[in-house]
Amino acid sequence: MIRLVPPAGDDSDHASLRAEVRSFLASVADRLPAPGSPTAVDAWLTGWDEDFTRALAERGWIGMTVPVEYGGHGRSFEERFVVTEELLAVGAPVAAHWIADRQIVPSLLKYGTDAQCRGFLPGIVAGEVYFAIGMSEPESGSDLASVRTRATRVDGGWRLNGTKVWTSGAHRAHAFIALARTAPVDPERRHDGLSQFIVDLRAPGVRVSPIVSMNGAHHFNEVFLDDVLVPDDMVFGEIGRGWTQVTSELSFERSGPERFLSTFGVLAANVESGADAASTGALVARTAALHQMSTAVAGALQRGEPADVPAAVVKVLGTELEGDVAEAAALHGDPTGPFGGVPLPAAVTAALDQRPGFTLRGGTTEVLRGVIARGLGAR
Ligand SMILES: Cc1cc2nc3c(=O)[nH]c(=O)nc-3n(C[C@H](O)[C@H](O)[C@H](O)COP(=O)(O)OP(=O)(O)OC[C@H]3O[C@@H](n4cnc5c(N)ncnc54)[C@H](O)[C@@H]3O)c2cc1C
Repeated sequence: MIRLVPPAGDDSDHASLRAEVRSFLASVADRLPAPGSPTAVDAWLTGWDEDFTRALAERGWIGMTVPVEYGGHGRSFEERFVVTEELLAVGAPVAAHWIADRQIVPSLLKYGTDAQCRGFLPGIVAGEVYFAIGMSEPESGSDLASVRTRATRVDGGWRLNGTKVWTSGAHRAHAFIALARTAPVDPERRHDGLSQFIVDLRAPGVRVSPIVSMNGAHHFNEVFLDDVLVPDDMVFGEIGRGWTQVTSELSFERSGPERFLSTFGVLAANVESGADAASTGALVARTAALHQMSTAVAGALQRGEPADVPAAVVKVLGTELEGDVAEAAALHGDPTGPFGGVPLPAAVTAALDQRPGFTLRGGTTEVLRGVIARGLGAR
């Protein structure tokens, strides 16, 4: 990973922890994708390897920010950042625990009950409990307030009916947090009346149906909820406060190093091949800047400061960089292609295939530009 030299005496880059992670990764090189291989592209979404997840857990690198009382390691967001950055730089297969570790942990700690924290956090820390995200629906993506999944009060809990879509990893995860409507839409206050529920993805009434991508990969799913009973103790946070909860979760979802390192292996391979120095130099400079910006957001999250605007900035700039890396590799990386009709290296093809998803997932670039502008006071 590219590193800027920190000032003397400043260990904000956590050099010893970085070295520890690198040394571990070198020791398990046979379990990692070969440098420049297609499986290193977007591995945080597609590289599902539960054994690898457990190996990380044994080293204390999952649930790092979980307090010790919940079985965690009580470490900082900056330390978690260093570990995740090193894992992403080599395309490590981290998808199994990614969502749980990235956003379910902080959400549980902020909104979960003590029983929910005790029920889920130790399993997440051990690398044994996996989550998906149950936000998007067939008619509802950017405008999440339009979700149609309904939760109806019944004895002892809530019955959920509706359909979630683009649910990465739902076919393997244990649970997701579903956003659902618990009160009719008030056109004046569309964000009211939404609530969140922890849904067991193996519960009666849940059907997970695969959506296979055009390159044959399967991580997406459609999740049908047919009268699924969610007991009262699995209501997440407060009924009616779902919008506030979801938006706070998004800062964690948008600001991490996975928003600029999904194609890092392709960039590294291009640098090593010495192809088109001017183009790769510019991409490396952007990567280094995003490293600094994303580190700064990890610091803000550690201090409990609101970070939705800087997180959106990282997401917009970082995901555009990921796509530009793919495109530059296609244009400059292979002297024989793409215009010579010779197939591109498989990693470049994988990066190009997945490029549209980079700027869509976690909030589209257009929508995030609005978040940034409004956050800065624009009307
Ligand atoms: C790889 C990947 C993984 C995903 N994983 C998950 C997951 O695990 N769980 C989950 O819940 N969802 C997931 N999603 C869904 C993702 O969150 C949505 O695709 C995203 O929020 C956009 O919603 P949409 O697809 O419905 O597009 P739309 O919201 O229909 O947007 C279509 C177009 O209109 C533009 N647009 C919409 N509103 C505005 C506006 N107000 N101003 C300007 N332009 C606008 C958008 O930018 C976009 O270009 C994933 C998506 C991808 C690509």
